[in-house]
Amino acid sequence: MVVGFVGLGTMGREMTRNLVKAGYVVQAYDVVPACVHEAAAGGAKAVASVAEAASGARIVITMLPDTPDVQAVVLGEAGLHRHPPAGRLIVDMSTIAPQAVRAMAAALKADGIDFIDAPVSGGPQGAKAATLTIMAGGEADAFARARPVLSAMGTTINHVGSSGAGQTVKLCNQLMVGINLQSVCEALALGRASGVDLTQMRDVLLGGSAASWMLDRLGPAMINGDASAGFRIDLQLKDLRLVQELATALAVPLPGLALVSTQYLEAKAHGEGGNGNQALFKVYDRMTNQSAR
Ligand code: NAD
Repeated sequence: MVVGFVGLGTMGREMTRNLVKAGYVVQAYDVVPACVHEAAAGGAKAVASVAEAASGARIVITMLPDTPDVQAVVLGEAGLHRHPPAGRLIVDMSTIAPQAVRAMAAALKADGIDFIDAPVSGGPQGAKAATLTIMAGGEADAFARARPVLSAMGTTINHVGSSGAGQTVKLCNQLMVGINLQSVCEALALGRASGVDLTQMRDVLLGGSAASWMLDRLGPAMINGDASAGFRIDLQLKDLRLVQELATALAVPLPGLALVSTQYLEAKAHGEGGNGNQALFKVYDRMTNQSAR
């Protein structure tokens, strides 16, 4: 079966490899030719446009940075709605605004194209290991058609409601990711100032009620001052903006979101937008005069 894939960055490149391993013919496109070459090295078929990615494909997957990117690839001049996949199903796995998802799904429905939102959690490691958590919104039969393809990329796959529900759950995830990471930063800053061994403290805390994915996966990089790899601060800021837009539309006050967003903005202002989100600890380095570390 042929699958089209548009967006071959940090996540997409790993996801296409797993689709190839599962036996799919993957027609892979990205605006950056180097990303296409890398996907081709993983067994995907390199193509030169969105139209070629969709050609003969039953399902087309998009894995793009932000809402306007998905809108352009789906509804733009040379977009997927002009080149509907054979099975007429588009699966967007990016993290974007739920409101925009519903508008796109309605517009595509008029042309007989199904659209589901299926954002992911698990980071580049989860993408590489095909263990992503996938939360999907949309019609049940469209989800059922997508499920075998999703199973090649993830292990925890749930249909969580109608169009946009997947993105809503993902944004709740991102809210928790941001605030949880901030809590790890605060504990590490306090432990460091008190002179305890942070590596041992992390090990101990992982065995107790404060254990978390953030402490487990990102703790070592934070303790070692490694800001480089992972989920970029710029993408986390994009997600927190989407959370704020949703919360504002629904009149839900989120004071924790406001505080952690300010700290991510501080990190970006110090040139860390391209760093992994564990670089949030650099904010605490500065606040505790550890910047020389
Ligand atoms: P990325 O920036 O590394 O990759 C996105 C790719 O899309 C880039 O290669 C870019 O060139 C390409 N692109 C942009 N516009 C395009 C267009 N019009 N046509 C074709 N290609 C285009 O981002 P990523 O880290 O892979 O994340 C992708 C999405 O997944 C984002 O919405 C992100 O929030 C979400 N996400 C990322 C992670 C992570 O840990 N990186 C985890 C979960 C979810």
